[in-house]
Parts: sequence; structure tokens; C-alpha cells
Amino acid sequence: MPTFSDIARRHPTLISERMSELISTTNSMGELATKLCELRCLSVDEYAKLISERAEGDAKGLAEFAYKECERVYGDAVFSRGLIEFTNYCANDCLYCGIRRGNAECNRYRLTDDQIAACAEQGYELGFRTFVLQGGEDPHSTDEWLCRIVRSLKEAHPDCAVTLSVGERSRESYARLREAGADRYLLRHETASPVHYRKLHPRSMSYENRMRCLGDLRDLGYAVGVGFMVGSPFQTPSDLAADLKFIEQFKPEMCGIGPFVPHHATPFAGYAGGTVELTCFLLSIIRIIQPNILLPATTALGTIDDEGREKGILAGANVVMPNLSPAEVRADYELYDNKICTGDEAAECAGCLGARMLAVGRRLVVDRGDPKEAA
Ligand code: SAM
Repeated sequence: MPTFSDIARRHPTLISERMSELISTTNSMGELATKLCELRCLSVDEYAKLISERAEGDAKGLAEFAYKECERVYGDAVFSRGLIEFTNYCANDCLYCGIRRGNAECNRYRLTDDQIAACAEQGYELGFRTFVLQGGEDPHSTDEWLCRIVRSLKEAHPDCAVTLSVGERSRESYARLREAGADRYLLRHETASPVHYRKLHPRSMSYENRMRCLGDLRDLGYAVGVGFMVGSPFQTPSDLAADLKFIEQFKPEMCGIGPFVPHHATPFAGYAGGTVELTCFLLSIIRIIQPNILLPATTALGTIDDEGREKGILAGANVVMPNLSPAEVRADYELYDNKICTGDEAAECAGCLGARMLAVGRRLVVDRGDPKEAA
């Protein structure tokens, strides 16, 4: 097995002396980190070991490698996606989620076509070239309505990408939305372990259907985003290892990972949340597995640590998703407690993030931010 220093000699532009110094100080973990950087994959057991036995040096070394890998593919660009949380009605009862059907405290809202168009218009002025329409699984979200929204966004802003994140639907529905012009779809797989999936969701939902949806989206030509929460109840290092193996094999264009943050009015209210440290460690591993992946530093990461998004970028993320929803409804899209930026105007979010990215050596760009070919 080559050491990190051997690989550093073979790939002098990729692996800095400092990194090999950091990682070689850490015994057998150094070997796994080395193998990951060289082969871009590990076995499920090796991923689990890397996670459960990680030391600070491994995390720092992998983060530096991941940050450089990101730069190699995307330069210093960070892409922004304007998030429009257009409905918080939801027919599902996911045990972790604040907008679950069973949360009677949730103040429900649904934006009108005109409100959605106005959010996008303002976002365009602010430099956004991707709009993400996200919502609960609202029974009112018929194909007809969603196709109409997608068509009018594409008509008004033909140079922009439209991403949908509206949950599980039939293949026919995904096909109609794609036909209407939707470019991308975010559907976190939530967990690649069927046993863990069962513990996070009610009986009415299934791991198999989630995976069927992801397969359909891929077949239909969407750029697909998967993802999971870090530190969700009952999650083990083996579950996370299964997530990493799934990402390695599915090769999604995007992957949203953020810490689980408890919501007071859900069955998981009393559980501990995920950590910044583990989330960043996983961001680095994902960037190394697939260097061209689009990887957000999520709002949840910024919620549990004021500098969480900056730390995510330093660990290999290259996307941020500020909120374009009207300020008056933001607090009602409460997936978890203490969500940040609920009182801000869109312009404040965009300005603040631009400055935050500069502080970590990156530049928020005006660009659709399409995935680059694997380098
Ligand atoms: N309904 C769509 C779906 O299921 O994909 C999109 C909306 S859903 C609320 C968006 C994501 O929020 C979920 O995929 C989940 O991972 C995340 N989420 C929900 N509750 C959360 C919590 N308590 N902490 C962190 N993330 C959470």
C-alpha cells in the first residue's frame, strides 16, 4: 500500500506537502485516506472505518485535498441557487420534518403564480441564474400547475436553469415536468439503508419508491440531486458508508447534505442534531469520490454554526442556496428549529453570502452553474 507521501510524489500538483504531512501523522487512517484520494472509492467497510475512526489530521488533510479538487474543476467559482419555497403543505409525515402533515402548529401557505414570478424576477436582478422551486408534497401541486410555473419561468428567463424539488411523483409526471422545461431535480435519497429509511419515515413511504423516483429522473434526462441528513436519529457509520457507496455508484450531478436539526413539533424533537465536523468530513469525501459534483454548503449547516457555510466551502462544497421566498412566509417553511435568514430580504441574503464566500477564497458568480464533465 503506497503511503500518502508516495502519492504526493506521484501527483505533486494535487497533493501538497502540507497535506501529506497532516495525513501521514495519523497511522492506519492515513492509508485509507490515501487510498480514497488515489482510487476515488473505498469498500463499504472501509468508508465506515474512515468515518468511525477519523482523527482531526485526516479531516484537515482530506478537506485541503477536496478544496483543491473543487478548484481544479470549477476554479474559484461558487454557484448560487435561488431557493423559492413555494408551498409548505405536505401530505407526508416524515418523522424529522417540521412541515410534516401531522404538525398542526405549522402555519400553511402556498405562493401564487404571480408571487413565484416576482421572486424569480427579483432573483434575476440579483444575479441568480438557477431557480429552485421547493415544496412539501402539496396535493395542490398538480402537473398542470407545476408545468405552468416551469414554462413561465423559462419564458421569462430563458438563460436560467429551473430545478424542481417537489418530492416523489410518478414517472409520467416527471416526464411532463421535464417536457415543460425543468432542467434539474433535487430528491434527497435520505438514507441508502432500507432499515434506516424505515426508522425515519411512516409506513406509507418506502425506500423502494424513493429509489424508483431517482432512477426515473435519471432516465428522463434531468440533472439529479440526491442527499441525506448527517446525524439523523438511529444513523450509524455503516449507514453513512452505504450513502457514500450509493453516491459513488449513482454518480449524481448534485448532492445536498446537511446536519439533521431537530424540530420541536416532530417525533424527533428530543434527539441530538448532526455536527458541523462530521458534515464537513463527509463533504470532503464526496468531493474526492466525484470531483465534478455540485455540492451545497447548506442552510442547515449555517444554522448550527454561524460560519457553517464557510466551513462547508473549505471542506469542498461549491454551491450556496439563498432564499428568494417572500420574507413574510419564510419563517413558516420551518423544516427545523432556528432556521437562519427567515427575516431577511433576498438582497440581504445574496449580499451577505457574497462577502462570506470571498472570506474563504471563493467568488459568488452569475452563472447557471451546470455540472462540468468529469475531469
Ligand atoms: N418534499 C420534497 C422532498 O421530499 O424531497 C422537498 C422538501 S423536503 C422538506 C427537503 C429536505 O429537507 C428533505 O429532503 C430533508 O432531508 C430536509 N429536512 C427535513 N427536515 C429536516 C431537519 N429536521 N433537519 C435537517 N434537514 C431536514
